[in-house]
Amino acid sequence: AGPGPSRAQLEYVVDLDAIAHNTGVLREHAGSAGIMAVVKADAYNHGAAAVSRAVLASGASELGVTTIGEALALRNAGITAPILAWLHQLDADYDAAIVGDVEIGVSSPRHLARVVAAARRVGRPAAVTLKIDTGLNRNGVAPDEWEATVIAAARASAEGAIEVRGAFTHLSHADEPGHPTIDLQKTAFDAALDGLRRAGLKPARVHMANSAATLTRPDLRYDMVRPGISVYGFSPVPQLGTFGLRPAMTVRAQVILVKRVRAGEGVSYGHLWTAERDTTVALIPMGYADGLPRTLSGRFEVQLGGRRRRAIGRVCMDQFVVDLGENEDGVEEGDDAYVFGNGDHGEPSAQAWADALDTITYEIVCGIKGRTTRSIV
Ligand code: PLP
Repeated sequence: AGPGPSRAQLEYVVDLDAIAHNTGVLREHAGSAGIMAVVKADAYNHGAAAVSRAVLASGASELGVTTIGEALALRNAGITAPILAWLHQLDADYDAAIVGDVEIGVSSPRHLARVVAAARRVGRPAAVTLKIDTGLNRNGVAPDEWEATVIAAARASAEGAIEVRGAFTHLSHADEPGHPTIDLQKTAFDAALDGLRRAGLKPARVHMANSAATLTRPDLRYDMVRPGISVYGFSPVPQLGTFGLRPAMTVRAQVILVKRVRAGEGVSYGHLWTAERDTTVALIPMGYADGLPRTLSGRFEVQLGGRRRRAIGRVCMDQFVVDLGENEDGVEEGDDAYVFGNGDHGEPSAQAWADALDTITYEIVCGIKGRTTRSIV
């Protein structure tokens, strides 16, 4: 390339067409249920505002996030669809949530009391969704506090301080289809919902299913499903295949330097890799500061010059090295290396990294950071 604006040396591209396609796949699995797309953590690092617009235009009707701050950022970006935020410190800014028309997930009677107080201050009812712990034992109202929560919610609702719009729970083993806890959680959820109804509360939106449950358990749809990772194109149950989902994130880097390494020489810190013969190597400007785990050293491949190539030696903070083989084979400085993506260029999937690291794709895509420029197309 000649003079003029150059492309980023390290970038990830988020493909909104893939997001729309994946929402369509989920639409087919959701039947008559609505879709709340989970766009927490900046849409699993894909860009919350752009992803939200894409999912709302392609079959989702609501959004789910973790914090009130995340929800308000979407409001500020002009998004008017219902947004539920579900993880709050006791003295979170519930006033701002009410003013911003953010639905507040409530996980204890103490949190509920704070929300009610905020509603009185603001002079408007708070939209509340009760989060019920049915066995994950994480966020959500504990079983021994459920009755007190229902009584307090019914009272606050009768006073007009809150409107109970929804009730939901989250599964512990949805990615292990057939696991007995799934049915146990459904039974506990149904019993908790009965308690709500007996107290005169009939929330319009009841939901349980994350991606894995949406794709494998039609009986858990209730009013709405609540998928996250599948929106971004990854199978929540990789052993069952891709479900036709398309990864939306592709990481691309430019080859910075091509050089020869002589037989017997070592490459990168600690010389974990030694050239058996004179070898050409390429330097790629991505390291652990950019979300490439150092523990992946020597255990991944990239697509470069029309072929898969082995990354060799230690992953460093800013760079890693690729083996181009004994002969110079046409790879040049400035060429594109595809690190992971949807496979359009022959590159591996982030699933390959997840498998090698004994983790999940969620962690891989959320971890891309540092100097990696993001383009949303
Ligand atoms: N619901 C809740 C409460 C969550 O925390 C998450 C994400 O972990 C989801 C839904 C979406 O889950 P998944 O990305 O597995 O579809």
